[in-house]
Amino acid sequence: MGESSREERIRLWGVGHLFIIPGSGRRMCARGPRPPLAALRTEPRELHETPRETAALAFWSQWTGAGRQRKHKLMAFTLPELPFSADAIAPISAETLEFHHGKHHNAYVTNLNKLVEGTEFAGASLEDVVKKSSGGVFNNAAQHYNHSFYWNCLGAQGRKAPGGALGKAIDGKWGSFEGFVSEFSTKAATLFGSGWAWLVKNADGSLDITQEPNAGCPLTSGKTPLLTCDVWEHAYYVDFRNARPKYVEAFWGLVNWDFAEKNFG
Ligand code: MN
Repeated sequence: MGESSREERIRLWGVGHLFIIPGSGRRMCARGPRPPLAALRTEPRELHETPRETAALAFWSQWTGAGRQRKHKLMAFTLPELPFSADAIAPISAETLEFHHGKHHNAYVTNLNKLVEGTEFAGASLEDVVKKSSGGVFNNAAQHYNHSFYWNCLGAQGRKAPGGALGKAIDGKWGSFEGFVSEFSTKAATLFGSGWAWLVKNADGSLDITQEPNAGCPLTSGKTPLLTCDVWEHAYYVDFRNARPKYVEAFWGLVNWDFAEKNFG
């Protein structure tokens, strides 16, 4: 029995039952009573039944206007967990993380979900929203992207410098790792107001250090982000007060070079 006839069979059955086909992630709702077990046994490894509540929600999502709102909520942007424990990146403190991640980043996610509801961006990928939006949607989407990226840049792996292809490319561009650190640190320290310093890969494969004010993100200019340092005051004020250069100095002891190398490809 082929794929389409199996789908037809499922569609005939059961309000309150949702079936997920593993592999494709496809979800299906079915009307009527629970399908006969004998039918399920025909392809026992392909059909998974979910709880009634989930099925009902998915049913509304697919077939009603109100459901479309619910569907968007199912696909909402979410605050990622920190990829390290809150006390693991001293001298950046747990208190900084509690506010920076738990309040600031969280607010961008909450605002973004409110702003995209009912718009063309509902259900879009975060990268697409960053590339195609403007105004408040862009500010919150880019801040969500930038912060998610930044957390992955931290959590030292015990390596103080990159190796491999990225290490070679940095040496080629700046003469040495120290030369790169010096220029990046200067750009991070001198960015006027709030923003981000980025190590990026250009379309031609070359490296650059860019200063992006406010929510600026290299994705909008077609560059590949490799590493970033958040220089908004909320990133360092609790631990370093107004001394941004000291925060940037501490940043170098915390960089997760595995992440930057992976981004370089
Ligand atoms: Mn921040």
